Amino acid sequence: PKYQSVALIVGVTGIVGNSLAEILPLSDTPGGPWKVYGVARRPQPSWNADHPITYVQCDISDPQQTRDQLSKLTDVTHIFYVTWSSCPTEAENCTVNGAMLRNVLEAIIPHAPNLQHICLQTGRKHYLGSFEVLGNTEPHDSPYHEDLPRLDVPNFYYVQEDILMEEVKKKEGLTWSVHRPSVIFGFSPYSLMNIVGCLCVYAAICKHEGKKLRFPGTRVGWEAYWDASDADLIAEHQIWAAVDPNAKNEAFNCSNGDVYKWKQLWKVLAEQFDLEYEECSDGDERLTLEEMMKDKSEVWDQIVKENDLVPTKLEEVGCWWFAEVMLTYSSCMDSMNKSKEFGFVGFRNSKSSFVSWIEKMRAHKIVP
Ligand code: NAD
Repeated sequence: PKYQSVALIVGVTGIVGNSLAEILPLSDTPGGPWKVYGVARRPQPSWNADHPITYVQCDISDPQQTRDQLSKLTDVTHIFYVTWSSCPTEAENCTVNGAMLRNVLEAIIPHAPNLQHICLQTGRKHYLGSFEVLGNTEPHDSPYHEDLPRLDVPNFYYVQEDILMEEVKKKEGLTWSVHRPSVIFGFSPYSLMNIVGCLCVYAAICKHEGKKLRFPGTRVGWEAYWDASDADLIAEHQIWAAVDPNAKNEAFNCSNGDVYKWKQLWKVLAEQFDLEYEECSDGDERLTLEEMMKDKSEVWDQIVKENDLVPTKLEEVGCWWFAEVMLTYSSCMDSMNKSKEFGFVGFRNSKSSFVSWIEKMRAHKIVP
């Protein structure tokens, strides 16, 4: 056959989905040559259209639509599940995100006779607790390792893992892997959580208004050690688990393998946008990003117009609530020992990774 493997990327316009769509079709990708299907809810955006993939527009929260659209893809050999939907409460997250995963697996598993492996991307909140309980529940002691028990609070990641375990039993020999990244550095103006994109938008607004790049986080967030996960590295990690027989039926952390502090990356961000910066202000004077950005929709529209950028809305590209968590939270890091022991030795330099995604946001005219 022309292809050795057939991928289904669920969430292909997302922060890791877009990296998978770029990397899987390359001629030297392990397990290849790969044929690639990519699923997302909206029509294919211009920045995703250069990838040699078959785009399938489908809302996977709709069981009927998912069955109709995905059960036809009978040649799929590997699923990369890199999507989620954000709900007001974690209880709803559990219901909605559980149903989305189940819809996809029920549409594919009985109809794809050559299906071999399913990668599920969850994340660091496996150990920290959901956004809803952050700060109000005792997280595990960091650095996190994969064998830690579940926290005793609802978490849609746990629901997804349970559904995955249940569904893989339905087909002999079908294997799985779970991937738990930290905060992701990547490219996607459609992502619900894109820290690099969000900070670029903030910097562009500061620049436009002739202001300094103020750090909107806390002293703790400014000084804390952090790790990040490069979106291309996560894609490589998932492809490794998909094809390497040693990596089957395991959960793995997935981070760059180095540490940074926001006070260091803040300087880098300022340099990239040719701005002066201000470190965090202590105490009551702190202005949150949400406060600073609440009236900036028109300013952003103007920046987009003046710089001939890809049209985006500020609400889409400025995920302020997420940046707020990232820039205020204390250290919480993982360990990559398990991945290394199982044979994955990939890594990224987080500072170079940060810069490279800023450059990509610019090159695709998402930010000036
Ligand atoms: P994302 O928000 O970047 O992308 C989601 C993708 O799924 C998009 O392509 C979107 O169009 C698609 N999608 C959303 N709803 C859909 C639907 N109903 N039908 C079809 N397609 C739909 O995703 P992400 O950030 O990679 O999130 C995947 C997982 O990774 C989540 O569990 C998230 O919590 C976790 N995670 C994310 C980060 C981060 O920094 N972004 C960090 C750690 C963990």
